[in-house]
Amino acid sequence: MKIGPRPLIRVSDGGLRSSAKAGLERAAEFVLENGLPALGAASGGVAGLAVGTVGSAALGHLKLDRMAAGQLLLGVTALASPTTALVGLGLGAALAGVLEGSAHWKRPTFQLDRQVFSQRYRQELEKDGVDLSGTRSLAQAVVRAEASRGAAYVLERAGQVVQDGYRPEDMKPGLDFNLLGSRIVERQPLGDLEVQRVTDLRKREGTDGYALFGAILVDAQHDVKQPHPKSDFLIGHEASHARHHDCAAALGEAAVLEAVGRSAPASELLLAQQELSHQQELRADLDGFQFARQRGHSPQDILQAATQLFGNSGSTHHHPSAKKRIESLQAALD
Ligand SMILES: [Zn+2]
Repeated sequence: MKIGPRPLIRVSDGGLRSSAKAGLERAAEFVLENGLPALGAASGGVAGLAVGTVGSAALGHLKLDRMAAGQLLLGVTALASPTTALVGLGLGAALAGVLEGSAHWKRPTFQLDRQVFSQRYRQELEKDGVDLSGTRSLAQAVVRAEASRGAAYVLERAGQVVQDGYRPEDMKPGLDFNLLGSRIVERQPLGDLEVQRVTDLRKREGTDGYALFGAILVDAQHDVKQPHPKSDFLIGHEASHARHHDCAAALGEAAVLEAVGRSAPASELLLAQQELSHQQELRADLDGFQFARQRGHSPQDILQAATQLFGNSGSTHHHPSAKKRIESLQAALD
């Protein structure tokens, strides 16, 4: 057994056991989140409904939105027909479990330990001189820091805390995940990174490349050993994400946004997150361009390859528009 501080990031390797475990956990969570009023009503009538509702609220699952209405409706249904409500609850839990389980099946997922993150994040903010007195939850700390330093600061710091705090050795199990094993055609070293060529990555995940911790996945059509402007631009782009630990930063940013939820300050945070993500993409494009140049391709060939890769994509939350990305590459050329 490993002894040491609790890791900041946990890895699910995407194999069968981890899928089943994640599915069961999610199903249980679903029952807890949605079913306490119904379970209470089915076992103890109106009094049970009341107890279940209070219990649900105490656990923090009962929020004043549609979810709460759904939970109560299920509870009231259980008063009239316990069987119907419990069957509905069971089906919902099973569906939630299957959805979660099958999502895990696809690729490794990296989960931030919210408690460890929250602790370190607060420490860092306080080191920076942000006054967090009187705040207890992560959400309160975020709101306080945003008020004094702005949304961009809050998100950048969150990303840095994860980038500085995760241990590469904790990531290893997630990079040897079982399922993709059979789909990995080849593993190729690229400096300090590993390039994994995956069959049908593009077809199944809708992307030619994917950056992880210390490794990048590319569709099997790309090959480090066969210089090609498109492959080299892509590999250089993903390698940039991996080397700058962009996926670690994304976990921290997501944790902050999730903590604040849908409350008003989140819109500013979302904009700041989009800005950060676009910056990372443009940086990765430039690095991809450089890498392709080192591999001997002409600027014109690389630009053409990048244009093909980007297609006609418009701006999304994560990526700038194809037009902007090409313009930024051209500007760097001059
Ligand atoms: Zn990218």
